[in-house]
Amino acid sequence: MRKVYLDNAATTALSPKVLEKMMPYLTGIYGNASSPHSFGQEARRGVENARSQVAKVLNALSEEIIFTGCGTESDNTALIGVVERYAKKGNHIITTNIEHHAILHTCEALEKKGVEVTYLPVDENGMVTAEQVAEAITDKTILVSIMFANNEVGTIMPIAEIGKICRERGVIFHTDAVQAVGHVPIDVKEMNIDLLSLSAHKFHGPKGVGALYMRKGIRLPAYIMGGAQERKRRAGTENVAGIVGLGAAVELACENLEESAARMTALRNKLIDGLKERIPEIKLNGHPTMRLPNNVNYSIRYIEGESILLMLDMHGIAASSGSACTSGSLDPSHVLLALGLSHEIAHGSVRLTLGDDTTEEDIDYVLEVLPKIAERLRAMSPLYHG
Ligand SMILES: *Cc1c(COP(=O)(O)O)cnc(C)c1O
Repeated sequence: MRKVYLDNAATTALSPKVLEKMMPYLTGIYGNASSPHSFGQEARRGVENARSQVAKVLNALSEEIIFTGCGTESDNTALIGVVERYAKKGNHIITTNIEHHAILHTCEALEKKGVEVTYLPVDENGMVTAEQVAEAITDKTILVSIMFANNEVGTIMPIAEIGKICRERGVIFHTDAVQAVGHVPIDVKEMNIDLLSLSAHKFHGPKGVGALYMRKGIRLPAYIMGGAQERKRRAGTENVAGIVGLGAAVELACENLEESAARMTALRNKLIDGLKERIPEIKLNGHPTMRLPNNVNYSIRYIEGESILLMLDMHGIAASSGSACTSGSLDPSHVLLALGLSHEIAHGSVRLTLGDDTTEEDIDYVLEVLPKIAERLRAMSPLYHG
């Protein structure tokens, strides 16, 4: 049976080219990067080379990059750090109601400690505007945190416009760019971004390693305390091989960004158009054009997302639903509800996310299999009368 992996928003395959770059650091170069001897210094060079690779793709300085354990840690560090460091200035944060839980659950925890959080509502395409942000800023606002691109529906936010407003009003701007890096060009200087989170395993790098861009001049307190690693911001012996892998992966993903994004957009559109042609009464979730090149999210009326996933899996296709079934909850996704979908329609959603390794044959196979699954499930559905 053909195997087709279309859950790249959850995680991606490690690129063989990245593994090749990591291998020496998993074997011979095992020194502690903080040790002054040659074993340590060789490891140190690997870490610093990765730092400059990350800095280069973001148009940042090497000293502005801190390596972390994952995207979630970068998000937590940014939010908790700003609240702690700027408590004297105010206690108000602005975010959106469709952020990843790494942001939302951190905000909820901060609210319990007395921080005030504004959750900006998005429109039916999953978009917030810079005007909404401008209107929400008060003299107590210390941070705006808005994701670069949404992980469920792929909507790309107007980050440069929001950054401009935050800079004008003197408010720190953080963006969770975990889904955007490697898919969309990012320039932290031009976009006035102060803090940015990214994670290697979302762009064909290894799991368990991320980074936080921290603009020079913004000094957040140490989040993990101990040794002097990461300029005392994040103690603990570095995950050298992971960091080297992150650097190699980000460089690879951004090398021919325009070309690879165009290739992926063409495949994505083939899937979007092909499914629309073959399945009646389906609704594309997310923005029609301001959308990640690798994201397809459809609600298929009258049937359950979970049943679709199960049957896709039986045909070798890995996808995901918008619903939070994995956390044991039957509630549909907070993102789809925020877009204004009814519970019933949100429940019938399926997300297909492409990777660098996705081929045209993969898409053809899904276009052959998914419409048949939808037809079979609808034939069994008491709700469907078509
Ligand atoms: C995956 C993801 C995260 C979490 O990253 P991890 O490295 O898995 O902790 C955060 N935000 C977004 C938008 C994501 O897609």
